[in-house]
Amino acid sequence: MNAISSLERDATLDRLERERFDCVIVGGGITGAGIAREAALRGLSVALLEARDFASGTSSRSSKLIHGGLRYLAMGDVSLVRSTALERKVIHRLAPHLAEPRWLVVPARSRAGLVKLRAAITTYEKLGAVAPEDRHRNWRRPELEQNEPLIRRELHPFACIYREYLTDDARLVLANLRAAVGAGATVVNYAAVTGLSTQSGRADGVRARCALSGRQLRVAARCVINAAGPWVDELRRLEDRSAPERLLLSLGIHVVLPHRRVPVRNMMILGTRDRRSIFVIPRGEIVYVGTTDTVYEPGAQTWPSIPRKDVEYLLEPLNRDLSVEPLVPEEVTAAWAGLRPLIAEPGKAPTEISRKDEVWIGPAGVVSIAGGKLTGYRPMARLALERAAKEHGLRLAAADGSDSPLPGGDFEGGLSSLARRLEETTGLDARRALRLASLYGREAAEVVERGPEPLVSGGVVLRGEVAFAVEKEGAATLEDVLYRRTRAALYVPEEREALLEPLSRALAARLGWSESERSAQCDSLRKRLAADLAFRQPEPAPS
Ligand code: FAD
Repeated sequence: MNAISSLERDATLDRLERERFDCVIVGGGITGAGIAREAALRGLSVALLEARDFASGTSSRSSKLIHGGLRYLAMGDVSLVRSTALERKVIHRLAPHLAEPRWLVVPARSRAGLVKLRAAITTYEKLGAVAPEDRHRNWRRPELEQNEPLIRRELHPFACIYREYLTDDARLVLANLRAAVGAGATVVNYAAVTGLSTQSGRADGVRARCALSGRQLRVAARCVINAAGPWVDELRRLEDRSAPERLLLSLGIHVVLPHRRVPVRNMMILGTRDRRSIFVIPRGEIVYVGTTDTVYEPGAQTWPSIPRKDVEYLLEPLNRDLSVEPLVPEEVTAAWAGLRPLIAEPGKAPTEISRKDEVWIGPAGVVSIAGGKLTGYRPMARLALERAAKEHGLRLAAADGSDSPLPGGDFEGGLSSLARRLEETTGLDARRALRLASLYGREAAEVVERGPEPLVSGGVVLRGEVAFAVEKEGAATLEDVLYRRTRAALYVPEEREALLEPLSRALAARLGWSESERSAQCDSLRKRLAADLAFRQPEPAPS
């Protein structure tokens, strides 16, 4: 059984209090989820506590690429690039719906620029052991005109295309958490760790508080692993009040536009005025654009606000390099902001800092891990676990089953053939079938069985998604379902306002909410959605 059921939350909290675990992991982003899966597969008894919703931190705010990061090659980070480039194939094998191979187009201004680009991509492909059929290709004017006519060829007469993988970050986290549960882990969201319990100066568990019921918990464990992303330093201070700051937080934003306004056919990289690169990523009816990389001083938080100037910065390369009617911030239909938990390197700007990860052992034996990339979550998990095992004398079994597919990932033949099979067996149209297949993989059929009808007349989000989110994916609030399970807040902006009422009613029926609770959740979501797009109001001119 790999379900995280919100209907069995009390029993989960009871189990957390009753048992003594080999390790308790703090943080349910990709780092914590990866460690939980790896630890459970290697025979440890595992608990994981997440303060808010699973993936509600950085792991739902990324560019959603499983990639080695071509630009880190230029920074000389060869081992990081090799490891993440190789991981692409593994994640694709474990969950083909959450690592979909796509061509990424990189336009070039000159023949010399193209040659330089090809050299870098060739090295990247060697490091990632890319199969011959997946290797890069070059486009000159005629191919560009035919395959990606939106690029202004008078500025960019050449392009190189190479393979990267598109994921859904929050759903990758959920899939790993469910795999961990399938291997015996106990995981819970909305349970913030508020303190450590210690014996003779060594951490022997955590204290936590359930945000939904107020219940206080103590979870006993031989070892505590801190995987709290941007909050890692905060957690380290629970162990050692004077622990020095290790992290530099960097803000990255993305904006969503209707695909009809930016009708690119492939994923694309464009250059910015300060010589950075941004991604333009088509996904169904939308295109998203990102990202920025600026020091964020206010400290870790779940919903950093989105500066209008950052939105303008992202739109500028589209207006310059693509044949589109000028795009303005008021047309943005959704946006998200995330904080990178980078390992600080004094004197370096966020763009210059390596994306490597690091592990520290605190004075009470807490193992903290930060940095890294979504793509490298499996090697990061192994590293953290091996350090924890050494420090605490835990015996790790051979990683049996680490090659088994993640939930929903057990299908062959690629996403489009999965979607076609779904169309045939359920009668869904092509658009709905592809959306469901890419979110749920082979489990899309189970989602449809739970309720094939759209929640909004003519809409794409199905009633069955609510039941699936509650019974299998630990959804406990309206925000969980709209933002991180169906992803409608980002990918289906035209439907999301209309979804609030029917979605909240379906959730209220499953979770036993009162009418006042239901309407409070709707109100708070309306405020959340408005806050995401607050930058659309032009800032007042200085007086
Ligand atoms: P998080 O996802 O933030 O998880 C930490 C969790 O800990 C949070 O959910 C938080 O609520 C929880 N927590 C905090 N305090 C407590 C507590 N007291 N008790 C319990 N839980 C607690 N990587 C890629 O590979 N590809 C990309 O395309 C990519 N794009 C990116 C774009 C942007 C804009 C950003 C910001 C990052 C991007 N990354 C990308 C990097 C990647 O997203 C991060 O490295 C990764 O998501 C970090 O995951 P994490 O689990 O360490 O942190």
